[in-house]
Amino acid sequence: MIKEIAAGGALAVMIYLGLNGLNLMPFLFLGGLLYLLAQSGALRSLRRENRPLPQGAFGRVEFGHIGGQEPAKRELMESLDFATNRGGIRRLGIRPIKGILLTGPPGTGKTLLAKAAAAHTNSAFLAASGSEFIEVYAGVGAQRVRQLFADAREAARRGGGSAVIFIDELEVLGGRRGQHTSHLEYDQTLNQLLVAMDGLASDDDQRLLLIGATNRFDLLDPALLRPGRFDRIVRVDLPDREGRLAILRIHTANKPLGPQVSLQRIAGQTFGFSGAHLESVANEAAILALRQGLESLEQKHLEEAVEKVILGEKLPRAPSRDELERIAVHEAGHAIVSEMLNPGSVTAVTVSSRGAALGYVRQEEEADPYLYPLAYLEDRVAVLMAGAVAEEIALGSRSTAASDDLQRAAQIARTIVGSGLSGLGVISEDVIPPTEAQGEARQILKAQESRVRALLRGRRAILVRTCQVLVDRERLSGDELRRLVGPGRRARRRVPRRMGEGTAPAG
Ligand code: ATP
Repeated sequence: MIKEIAAGGALAVMIYLGLNGLNLMPFLFLGGLLYLLAQSGALRSLRRENRPLPQGAFGRVEFGHIGGQEPAKRELMESLDFATNRGGIRRLGIRPIKGILLTGPPGTGKTLLAKAAAAHTNSAFLAASGSEFIEVYAGVGAQRVRQLFADAREAARRGGGSAVIFIDELEVLGGRRGQHTSHLEYDQTLNQLLVAMDGLASDDDQRLLLIGATNRFDLLDPALLRPGRFDRIVRVDLPDREGRLAILRIHTANKPLGPQVSLQRIAGQTFGFSGAHLESVANEAAILALRQGLESLEQKHLEEAVEKVILGEKLPRAPSRDELERIAVHEAGHAIVSEMLNPGSVTAVTVSSRGAALGYVRQEEEADPYLYPLAYLEDRVAVLMAGAVAEEIALGSRSTAASDDLQRAAQIARTIVGSGLSGLGVISEDVIPPTEAQGEARQILKAQESRVRALLRGRRAILVRTCQVLVDRERLSGDELRRLVGPGRRARRRVPRRMGEGTAPAG
């Protein structure tokens, strides 16, 4: 309404001035230009410059609220103690740490670590994401960087004298210069960040510490990483078994757990999970318990939650009876061969259809290894082949259910060749002709296929019985499966796996 009155008024003034003989062309040109700028969003962006960056809702997080990540916590705390000891820094003439870079996969607790760093040093906490600095218009991002540092100084002045600035997705703002199509804006923003970091001095009244986080360390501009800018680079990795247990304990601390619950076992079944996945497991388990009207979480809720987090929600469309039988045979094949090669390794087999798979075998691990021996890799290929071979033996034909398994098996075969573990000898892949490497990988797959066929051929009856039970009950626990399969062949050697073998949906 106000806009319309203003436009009407402006028009009336123009007509009056025009009637009095004034040249209106410059006014019309300027008005048109302003209109175009406003429509294209440039003015909106420039106006946004001066608004403080969104900081989200940050509760107080302390290092004790972060499970696992002991090396990262230790390294971060050392850097912080060193940064807060101002007397010592002055006395010894030390240049204070200006920046700490946290690198690692998503959901591993980088943001939590930055918040805990702020709490540990009693500092104000300001957070922003790299993508918030990037605009099409040159200069806007740089202005936002200046604004962020000014806000941090102000927050430090009002608070305890120090502030932590946390920039997530640093690679968006700090990517290598000269690589983007809109060079100027990206480069100016990064330059401004470098200037702002260089401006941090030990004798400042307000102490600022910049903590950056990235999943793509490789994309960062080397200028950011040179000493005097991000002085410490702290790796925040996926948690190991102990770490997973600690994170599960943290996220179930506010939930009533039944007496049978073993978080140890859940930690053992969640190899490759991040802290965010584990938080989701605890939450999903509580939702399942609530849906069943129970007062506390049981082991089965946690186990189902693990499956849900890996595979997603159950599919709305149920497979036909024939499809279900095929899926059950396929999963039974994976599970039986896994038990034969590594007795005690299966924790559950399921044929309930979920987002990413139609069936699933879950396996337990005893430790997170750093290295994989050849026998372990061959067993993994054998277990992956077992679904397709079981279909062939029990149903007389194979299906597309094995496509994902075969891709993964091929990947392992390539790893065997590339690591010098194949018949080609201790030789790098770089000096093997591609056709020869492919031929060797094919040999490995063929050999494991024959091995699995020999293992399953004599167990057709067990395969069929396991399949029937699975079709009836949708899910078998590891112990139920072992009762059906009988004693395993090999001494127990539990093997770690990131994900269980699953039946891929067709297509
Ligand atoms: P991204 O790289 O995607 O930004 P991030 O590494 O910053 O992820 P956070 O945001 O710190 O991850 O973690 C997300 C959530 O996952 C947290 O709010 C917390 O619930 C849970 N979480 C992650 N790691 C841990 C941990 N080590 N201990 C406890 N909870 C954790």
